[in-house]
Amino acid sequence: MRTITSTRAIQLWRDAEAGSVGFVPTMGYLHQGHLTLVRKAAAENDAVVVSIFVNPLQFGPSEDFGRYPRDLESDQALLAGEHAHVVVFNPTPEEMYPSGFSTAVEVEGSITQILEGAKRPGHFRGVTTVVNKLFNLVRPTRAYFGEKDAQQLAVIRKMVSDLAMNLTIVGVPTVREPDGLAMSSRNVYLSPTERQAALVLSRALAHARSLWQDGERSAPRLGSAMLDLIAREPLAKVDYVSVADPTTLQEIEGTAESALVSMAVFIGRTRLIDNTTLRS
Ligand code: AMP
Repeated sequence: MRTITSTRAIQLWRDAEAGSVGFVPTMGYLHQGHLTLVRKAAAENDAVVVSIFVNPLQFGPSEDFGRYPRDLESDQALLAGEHAHVVVFNPTPEEMYPSGFSTAVEVEGSITQILEGAKRPGHFRGVTTVVNKLFNLVRPTRAYFGEKDAQQLAVIRKMVSDLAMNLTIVGVPTVREPDGLAMSSRNVYLSPTERQAALVLSRALAHARSLWQDGERSAPRLGSAMLDLIAREPLAKVDYVSVADPTTLQEIEGTAESALVSMAVFIGRTRLIDNTTLRS
């Protein structure tokens, strides 16, 4: 396993790499969710690049950029155990955004303005800008993104399609702890009591799925059933709960044929997101 920190060096590495390259962009503090993406990338490509970069552009001024968990040594140890041909790309913010950097890539329209985009203005602009630059550096054959961040995956797919980028985007199902909590680097913020309370997200999704399986198709009723369940957890504060069209991400007003059910919930100070897709 090799670690590269400069943009020039990763370009030179790519110039010399004749085979297919699978790319997994991450912010590090890796867990089994990330490693599932890495394993899929390793199975489908000759080489794998994992970027570890906490991207300042995608954090709002009152968000957790400064305290976002970082542990490069542990990340490298986890990746060293995975695949012979893994390259870690770990640039500094100054390397990615040198003085004078002034370009942004933005997917316009409601897809970036609703849900996470409404709650985190500028977030997706930061994501698409960094992902675009990373794609230009790594020139991947395939890039792997988690369905855990369903809206991010939809936004990246849109950018790749709109700009005719020459790579395949692969979505990977959410990896969960045995008790249902979606794996996330931010779970480390949770105290033991909060960790228990955080189960309310996956429970609410499971509740919606069970209602769906019993034939409930009213989007507003699915939404309020989840809100009711979350309201019973004193440490939880809902940021949003959404029942939306899985393709457009527009909120469904009446009957749903399929639905992306998603939510952001504060557990204490920690904001967690989760989602599931319901299909007939
Ligand atoms: P992050 O480091 O949180 O930016 O995540 C890097 C990539 O890993 C993104 O594509 C995420 O959607 C994906 N990811 C994060 N958590 C999970 C999970 N629990 N299961 C599957 N993919 C995940």
